[in-house]
Amino acid sequence: MLHAAEEIARVLGQDAVCYDTDVLEHHGHSDWSTSNSPGRAVAVVYPKSTEDVSAIARICNNRNVPMVPFGAGSSVEGNFSQPHSGICVDFSFMDKIVAFHPDDMDVVVQPGVNWVDLNNHIASSGLFAPMDPSPTATVGGMVSTNCSGTNAFRYGTMKDWVLNLTVVLADGTVIKTRRRPRKTSAGYNLTSLFVGAEGTLGIVTEATLKLAPIPQATSVAVVPFPTIHAAASAATALIRSGIQLAALEIMDDQQMAILNAHGSPTVRKRHWAEQPTLFLKFSGTTAAAVQSDIARTAALIAENNNTTQGQTAPPPFHFARSKQEEHDLWAARKECLFTMTSMRPAGHAMWSTDVAVPISRLAELIDWSQTECRKLGLFASVVGHVGDGNFHVAMMYDPRDKAQVAAVAGCVQRMMDKALEMEGTVSGEHAIGIGKKACLRDELGEATVGVMRGLKRAVDPKWVMNPGKVFD
Ligand SMILES: Cc1cc2nc3c(=O)[nH]c(=O)nc-3n(C[C@H](O)[C@H](O)[C@H](O)COP(=O)(O)OP(=O)(O)OC[C@H]3O[C@@H](n4cnc5c(N)ncnc54)[C@H](O)[C@@H]3O)c2cc1C
Repeated sequence: MLHAAEEIARVLGQDAVCYDTDVLEHHGHSDWSTSNSPGRAVAVVYPKSTEDVSAIARICNNRNVPMVPFGAGSSVEGNFSQPHSGICVDFSFMDKIVAFHPDDMDVVVQPGVNWVDLNNHIASSGLFAPMDPSPTATVGGMVSTNCSGTNAFRYGTMKDWVLNLTVVLADGTVIKTRRRPRKTSAGYNLTSLFVGAEGTLGIVTEATLKLAPIPQATSVAVVPFPTIHAAASAATALIRSGIQLAALEIMDDQQMAILNAHGSPTVRKRHWAEQPTLFLKFSGTTAAAVQSDIARTAALIAENNNTTQGQTAPPPFHFARSKQEEHDLWAARKECLFTMTSMRPAGHAMWSTDVAVPISRLAELIDWSQTECRKLGLFASVVGHVGDGNFHVAMMYDPRDKAQVAAVAGCVQRMMDKALEMEGTVSGEHAIGIGKKACLRDELGEATVGVMRGLKRAVDPKWVMNPGKVFD
């Protein structure tokens, strides 16, 4: 492995290779993830072009050395960890916008481009890239985890926004999956093969992304409910209503209490009801259309809450009265993970997991999951993208306490089993990494995973591309 790193330094230059222990640690471990591995790469390499990546792949493949791509390291299932060591490929210097085609509504970018920077850069064109995972995430990582975020309810997931990819295969071969038109039915859909592949099939060195018009009119509303079941049921009714919401998110009472106690100054401008709460984002072409959607939503929520809870008073529906308030209300949802991590007691870890089910089963699963978590007697909280039938549970535990670790692991496993029983998935948006390999087999069965294994062998016969992820 060290010989491979030295050969890469000879080809790319000495400053393209780093052996610093702190840098290796940063690239091999994540505080956001429970699925870390003790393995570390021997070096981190910094390519500047597709040609550089091709040279790295050729060298590693010849020497049977694992290659692990690294974007921003915000993935949470051990996706970029290095259980078999090897060379970590960091895309910090491949962060250019290659071409912007506003008339075609697409943009060609290198993998190290951060989505927030991209959207700031192109904002004046009236277009944006809608996927919104961690604010730190880069396009290479977003493509490779098939990420989503709060905007997925309206815009779909990352796979819907990738037009084509330039990919370096394990042996250094460079391919482009398709050209730039909006549609094609020419040949196999190789773009989708690499989206969500977690760097196990090839390294993405360029992506053409579709863009959407920035909505002209928007608003945000929050509405608390007496129970998590009532909130989730109202969410299900809203999804079925056909009202065009931009986002539909849920936070439980624990999360709301955390906002009051530990939120940023922006978030603490108001006192939040410490009850399960839906966060709704509205968007449309005119303010009148948005107002009409808000009125329909308020009526539907009141009706749904009365029916399901036998109550007479509708829940207090609060919508933003200014752009500033809109921003402040939504900040509460966007910042909640950071807030939760900041209040974690020293030495404690957070196990955050992610499932999705058909929307009709959502209320039942959220209710069931919350009850299971509370039985543990640990801090546990539900937050998520209910609009997509997708939610996360975060549990805090002491990793030095074996009984606690076993209890949390057991609880997560039961949640996965329950989601599968409901025809759901063990990973709505965080991919498989090393954390959910066994669950993937439970979800899809050995024959389907066998086909994936066959595809992997076809493009990476030496198994050097991010080995140890997705399946063994
Ligand atoms: C606070 C917070 C909030 C989050 N919210 C969301 C959310 O709402 N929705 C959501 O979907 N996710 C969310 N995530 C998870 C995370 O942001 C996403 O998984 C994101 O897509 C990862 O991007 P990254 O650049 O950090 O990739 P990394 O973590 O660096 O890598 C992810 C995977 O992609 C591979 N990879 C990276 N670059 C390349 C490349 N060029 N070619 C091939 N493979 C590559 C890596 O090897 C790894 O397997 C959140 C995470 C945090 C910490």
